[in-house]
Amino acid sequence: MTSLSDLPLRANLVGKSPYGAPQDPVPVSLNVNENTHPIPDEVVADIAAALERAVRTANRYPDRDFVELREALAGYLGHGLTAEQLWAANGSNEVLQQVLQAFGGPGRTLLSFSPTYSMYPLLADGTDTAYIDVPRPTGYRLTPESVRAALTEHAPSIAILCGPNNPTGTPLDRETILAAYDAFDGMLIVDEAYFEFDNERESAVTLLEGRPRLLVSRTMSKAFAFAGVRLGYLAADPAVIDALRLVRLPYHLSALTQAAATTAIKHAATMLATVDDIRVQRDRLAAALTELGYRVHDSGANFILVGGFLDPNGMFEELRARGILIRHLGIAGHLRITAGTEAETTEVIRAITELTTLSS
Ligand SMILES: *Cc1c(COP(=O)(O)O)cnc(C)c1O
Repeated sequence: MTSLSDLPLRANLVGKSPYGAPQDPVPVSLNVNENTHPIPDEVVADIAAALERAVRTANRYPDRDFVELREALAGYLGHGLTAEQLWAANGSNEVLQQVLQAFGGPGRTLLSFSPTYSMYPLLADGTDTAYIDVPRPTGYRLTPESVRAALTEHAPSIAILCGPNNPTGTPLDRETILAAYDAFDGMLIVDEAYFEFDNERESAVTLLEGRPRLLVSRTMSKAFAFAGVRLGYLAADPAVIDALRLVRLPYHLSALTQAAATTAIKHAATMLATVDDIRVQRDRLAAALTELGYRVHDSGANFILVGGFLDPNGMFEELRARGILIRHLGIAGHLRITAGTEAETTEVIRAITELTTLSS
């Protein structure tokens, strides 16, 4: 046995930790922002049939350009998008990695605004792209002024705006995206992993026309309740898609993934039927915790970031001991909680209420 420090690892990976949200088999798992509702039976049956058909021809490589899936994704996004503007990979994490492989790399930079998605700096490290971390303004909301200042100063190769932002839940406004696009000449990614939960804003895909450096990434892992299948996608100018073809591994999307995702999209309305209720549960959770004296940050996503915990690690562990897993991200005094089903939300509210009363 040897240890990692004995190996000739690339310098920019030395001392780094892998992505590591705990995966505990607890009854109430509200730590990675999944849609916690099961997939409806009718959709399961249809996907199983599609998988059976795909298995029969699995002796052959799958469609390298997954045209049928891209057409389905374009149809789902609407706004006149076509398959040429769509791309997909095994999770939007892989899509983002491909973007960094194509537009980042040694001597280049990726900028984002913290606190934000913990994978951005890891993807930068993995592609030897320097990561520039710019703190968000107080309250976490990005403004046209704040993004303009940062992007003008640093002129990064790539910038990512996450909206709604993980882990804060903060929505992202159209004016901020437009100000960012005009402030530098690199690639601008808008990460819309939680878009379907924000019923107040239009998608950044409506801004694609005439903006070839704008990339909008989405995923089926959150609202779409399909995290286990690993399907993330991106809408952008066809030239950007051509760039991603240079770095993707051939046949990166398996025939099974293509069949499952294409079939699930046909059932989009059914798959997304729980989104309204998740939003109701999120607001119920926020109201209950506010009532207990915690500070709940404004959220357009399926989770809330909550401040005011004197001992967030203690609360995290007490909940875990009760079979409830939430997320402790190392933001002082804060914890992040995913809105689950009505029953799960009731349980987490009851447990936090009990623990808060005990400690006061
Ligand atoms: C969950 C999440 C993703 C999605 O990851 P997948 O690889 O598609 O499962 C992307 N961006 C953010 C901000 C997320 O929170």
